[in-house]
Parts: sequence; C-alpha cells; structure tokens
Amino acid sequence: MTLSALRPSAPDDVPPPRPPSVERLLADPAAAGPIGTYGRQAVTQAVRAVLKEIRDGGAAMAGSENLLARVEARLADENRPSLRPVFNLTGTVLHTNLGRALLPPEAAQAVAAVMTGASNLEFDLATGERGERDDHVAALVCRLTGAEAALVVNNNAAAVLLVLNALAQRREVIVSRGELVEIGGSFRVPDVMARAGCRLREVGTTNRTHLRDFEEAIGPRTGLVMKVHPSNYAIHGFTAEADEAALGRLCTQRGVPFAIDLGSGNLIDVSAYGLPPEPTVRAALDHCDLVTFSGDKLLGAVQCGIVAGRRDLIARIRKNPLKRALRVDKMTYAALEATLRLYLHPETLHERLPTLRLLTRTAEAITAQAERLHPAVAERLGETVRVAVEPCTSQIGSGALPVETLPSACLALHPPKTLGKRGEGAWLKHLAAAFRALPVPVVGRIGDGALRLDLRTLEDESGFLAALDAWRGVSDPA
Ligand SMILES: *Cc1c(COP(=O)(O)O)cnc(C)c1O
Repeated sequence: MTLSALRPSAPDDVPPPRPPSVERLLADPAAAGPIGTYGRQAVTQAVRAVLKEIRDGGAAMAGSENLLARVEARLADENRPSLRPVFNLTGTVLHTNLGRALLPPEAAQAVAAVMTGASNLEFDLATGERGERDDHVAALVCRLTGAEAALVVNNNAAAVLLVLNALAQRREVIVSRGELVEIGGSFRVPDVMARAGCRLREVGTTNRTHLRDFEEAIGPRTGLVMKVHPSNYAIHGFTAEADEAALGRLCTQRGVPFAIDLGSGNLIDVSAYGLPPEPTVRAALDHCDLVTFSGDKLLGAVQCGIVAGRRDLIARIRKNPLKRALRVDKMTYAALEATLRLYLHPETLHERLPTLRLLTRTAEAITAQAERLHPAVAERLGETVRVAVEPCTSQIGSGALPVETLPSACLALHPPKTLGKRGEGAWLKHLAAAFRALPVPVVGRIGDGALRLDLRTLEDESGFLAALDAWRGVSDPA
C-alpha cells in the first residue's frame, strides 16, 4: 500500500482532485499486468473497492499509478492462500495446530507422483482385477510391527471409533476408570464409546485398577476390553494398573478381544535415540489383539489412523460400513508408504525422518545455531527488540510423552527496558502479532518476559532470515 494515498486530506482551500473513473483506470497501460494475472473481473472489483475506500475515507486522491499499486496490493492480499507455510518455533515439535509431523521429501515426491494422474489405488496390476487400497501399506505395517493385518482410516480417533463399532456395538467395553480421558479437547473416550454404540463398563478407580477388576467384569455381554495409553497426562503416587501381559492372557482365556489405543504410533524404540521410552506397537501387540495409533504423531507421516493386529478381527472391521466412510485418499497412502519405507533402514532414520531428526537434536547444536543466527536476527529486528540466546525446553507434543521435556535453546526477544511490567505484556503480544504478520509467519511462544523462538525446529535458516527481511517493527501498543 502506498502511504501517499493515506495521507490526510489537502488543506481546505485546495479542492481535492476528482478520482479517475473505473474505465480510465482499467485502460491505463499499467493495469494490463494485474488484468493478465487476476482477470478483468477481479481487477474491476478491486478498482471499485479502492475508489470507494478513498471516497469513504476522505483520503486525498493519488495519481492513477498509486491507485493501481493499491489495487495490486489488494489483489495480492485476496489471492494469498489461506493455508500456507509458517515457521513453527513454539518448541512443540508435533504441534497439532501447526500441522503435526513434517513429511520427509520422499513422501512429498510420492504424493506428487500420484496426485495429478491415475494410479493403481484399488487395482491389482498382476491380475487386472479390483484391488484393496490398504494393500499399499498393510504389508509394510505388518513387517514393522509384527501384526498379521492392518488397515488405515482418516485419523486415530476414527480408528478407535471404527474398532469399537465393529467389535462391540450394543455390547460392553471394559475400560479402566483411570483411562477415561480426554485427548486434544474433542476426543473423549466415554463420548466416542457412546457414539460407537457401545456400553462403557468402567472398572477400578482413578488411581488403581487391578487384574481382578477385569476378571469380575468380563461376562457374556462383553464385546471388547480396551486400554487407552495415557498420552497427555500422568497419574503419580499410589497407583496401580493391571499388568498388560496378564490382562492379555485373561482376555484370550475368556475369548474376548483386547485392544490398546496407543495414540502415538511408535514403530521403533525411541530410547535408542536418547529419547524417553515410549511403548512400541510391536511390544503392545505381544499382549493384545489390536492396536490403534496415529500416522502423524511420533510415526512422523501423514494424518491417518492405523489399526493393526489379528487377521480375523481386521477382516471383520474392514467389512463395517464406517470403514468406507472413514477411508483415506490416495495421497495419504502414497505419503504413508514412502515414510514407512524409511523405517526399513533404521540406521539412517534419524537423518531422514524429520520428526526424529528434530527430536534428536542436542541442546549444544541448537545453542550453536542460535548463536550463529543471533547477529543477523538482531540486525533485522532493530534496536527496540533486545535479542538474547537463552536455554529453554522443547516438548514432543501431540500427547506423546507429556511430562518429558527436551533441553533446547531459543532466541529470546525481550521488551525495551523502558516499559513497565504492564506495558511489557502488551508489547510482547504486539511483537508476537508482528511475527505472525510476516509474509511467512513466524510462531513463537511468550514466556518468562520474552517472546521465545525455540530453534529446535528451525532447519531452513536462510528462509527464516529472508522472512525477517520484511520486518517493519512492532506497532505501538498504546
Ligand atoms: C492422539 C490420540 C488420539 C487421537 O488421534 P488422532 O490421530 O489425533 O485422531 C486417540 N487416542 C490417543 C491415546 C491419542 O494419544
């Protein structure tokens, strides 16, 4: 936007120039560019809107050149995609609001390869007959988890809903009282059970549930025993839960299926990479019949939910009409298959799988990066923002390992010393808003008197500095 068009009106004794007509502006040779890019109709509408703004606002008329610049700025703004890249420097690696896992380039290439042309999504190339879309990933999931069979739906919430409905509609599902949790605001285990048409049978107490509680509850009305991994909370102190292996044996004896909702679908032992231990799908399947997990949490692929386990149960679940309603697109299979293939080469996984690569960065490496970037960032932000390199803690996010944090480093952006405590809070909010308003928005976290940009998740340093080149300062909070 040009500033001259926004200046206050000329002094009263000089009559303001009359705005040019819409036709004259459109006929201006400089209008040819925008018309070529956006089309005559859109440019005409934008010209009308800008002229109206000027009439309504009483702003001084600018030359047609300036008017067309305003028209172009307006069109560029209107045509900016709604969904676009941002820099996630919040310190939460798997940030649900910022799109969770980053896909490896192999996945992006696989998606690109199938998205603009036909593919063998449900077509068996060997026989020429109809194929099964889950076949593109089922064998890989089985190989990586030891499951007999697997299927894919829209997300893990859908996977849980489908398993419950397919195996226990109008029957009882036995769950420990300590696991009747809410995950991410809108996924509450008791609500999902009700929607799936199951009757919830709670056993035990909030802090302690024993094997005998399950023993007493299993009966002719039982459809399923379910265990929910405590993904976003932890109960400490005087606690007990039924041993998973013993519970599995009990369910087998009684002929009742046993499912575990793992949440984060860990395919490998992350403690081997120095991360806090988290159960793997393979270990869970040693004791239960079915596991449900997310594709875009620790697994590091695309949004989807995977059900893996016993062949006969997966076959029953696949026949349920909800499977059709919850099925995923070819792009999901392409991204998931390509990501799962990286797991076949565990030695390079921590370099090639972005989620693992970011989670395994050391505080030393991140601090060194922060110190390297510090001068360039401070220079771009100017004198009002005091930039410092400070330690901070990142978290995995998406409910994985909720109580564990990872040591990291941030660029801490402090307010000018002249502001009082009150003024600081408002200033920090304005600072955060200015970062979000950049051409590529930067999202940080306000805490301990500063806006903190955790660099654990910053890989594109030149892109980040380029985004800061558009820095125009913090608007005055007053
Ligand atoms: C995250 C999570 C879910 C929901 O998974 P989405 O893929 O987000 O739908 C369900 N159960 C548990 C235990 C989870 O951690």
